[in-house]
Amino acid sequence: MDYGIEAGRKLEEACGVCGGYAADQPLAFLTCFALYALQHRGQESAGIAAGPGEGRKLWVKRGMGLVSDVFPETADLKGILGRLAVGHVRYSYGEGGKNPENSQPLRLRYRHGELAIAHNGNILNSRELREELEAQGAIFQTDTDSELLAHMVARQGSSSLEDALLEVVPRLKGAFAFVLTDGHKVIGLRDGYGIRPLSLASLDGDGYFLASETCAFDTIGASFIRDLEPGEMVVLDEAGMHSRKVIENTCSRLCMFEYIYFARPDSNLQGKNVHLVRRELGRQLAREHPADADIVSGVPDSSIAAASGFAEEAGLPYEMGLVKNRYIGRTFIKPTQKMREEGVDIKLNPVKKIVEGKRVVLIDDSIVRGTTSVKLIKIMRRAGASEVHLRIASPPVIGSCYYGIDIPDPGELIAYNNRPAEIPELIGADSVGYLGMERTIEAVSLSPGELCRACFTGDYPVL
Ligand code: AMP
Repeated sequence: MDYGIEAGRKLEEACGVCGGYAADQPLAFLTCFALYALQHRGQESAGIAAGPGEGRKLWVKRGMGLVSDVFPETADLKGILGRLAVGHVRYSYGEGGKNPENSQPLRLRYRHGELAIAHNGNILNSRELREELEAQGAIFQTDTDSELLAHMVARQGSSSLEDALLEVVPRLKGAFAFVLTDGHKVIGLRDGYGIRPLSLASLDGDGYFLASETCAFDTIGASFIRDLEPGEMVVLDEAGMHSRKVIENTCSRLCMFEYIYFARPDSNLQGKNVHLVRRELGRQLAREHPADADIVSGVPDSSIAAASGFAEEAGLPYEMGLVKNRYIGRTFIKPTQKMREEGVDIKLNPVKKIVEGKRVVLIDDSIVRGTTSVKLIKIMRRAGASEVHLRIASPPVIGSCYYGIDIPDPGELIAYNNRPAEIPELIGADSVGYLGMERTIEAVSLSPGELCRACFTGDYPVL
């Protein structure tokens, strides 16, 4: 299958962005808490730009690691002066992913002052736009789409950031949610398909805050107002909040994978609570693929809601068959040779007394390459499960994502390379059942036209 999209890709990112403007709030401090709430969207690097402070300059701190690594003394951020802040957490993959230079917000100086930019998504025509700018003498220091936007803005003659963006943004193809500042205002931007989420909240009557997910608002006591429209630019400044349409001919295609895996369960996307959607996915899955079993278990954390919905619908007990160690981070080193040889997982441990001798329905939110599934089935069998029936709360993933979710090229996808009937044997399960597209859409309760489902259908909204 050829989806007509270039396979070799640059740095790609599935990140979390946020930022706000207020006359009398400790914005750098609040932004740090918002980043804690968005940490699941990226653990590679974190950063905040805030100010302006003395000399009207922006303060910027960014670095590799978790929010707590980069900002170990959160309380110190109360001392950062200024009316605005922008924050970013990064989940990177593709080339250049580990380069600290690529951490954000990116700060640049240009003839009209400073810019600090945070980006979530992936701009498809970035190579072409970069080459065009390089031909005009631009020198790029990072691989990020944020720097591309900065160069494009800087080349516009206008001293008004809004006017420059009105010219530049319609030239960007792909998925993006930007939060940026010039030290005077904070601007939120969403692509014309609304693929990546971005929402707006008020800060207790004093200013506004933008974030990739609504869970960030709860963490800082902000009140949700609405999601940004596709192609909308929201400007936060001393006059309050105003909005302009930057892209004509928009439509709504929110990423379905946000509901299935990526977003936090306490967030609402397009007014739908992620946890409730996942529970409904589980219920639908039990109707479509029932199993003769004794217990239902979910893979922590993203599949717990679907597993509880499955158990409820199937009338089976929900049990905690697997426990996840949340503190081990990205370590893949195993403590002993025997554990290495047996492929024991140090992040997921079975509760043997629960699983032993049981026919287990194991729920996972998705299968991408299939490596996790192979590991999970082994863990369950080693713990003594008599049967393992894997149920997946989404359709088979058959296409890569070009819009900012880490899904590899089709050659690596188990469902692209194999027929459904071959998958149980390949991963070692007694049976496998994927939730069909129709029921998945029913669970999300948006119309199929309101979602980007490209990784499940191969039908890409933006090429
Ligand atoms: P795989 O091992 O490649 O089949 O990946 C599927 C597993 O990774 C599932 O357990 C998912 O919960 C999780 N997963 C799905 N999508 C992603 C993603 N974009 N990034 C990280 N993990 C993911």
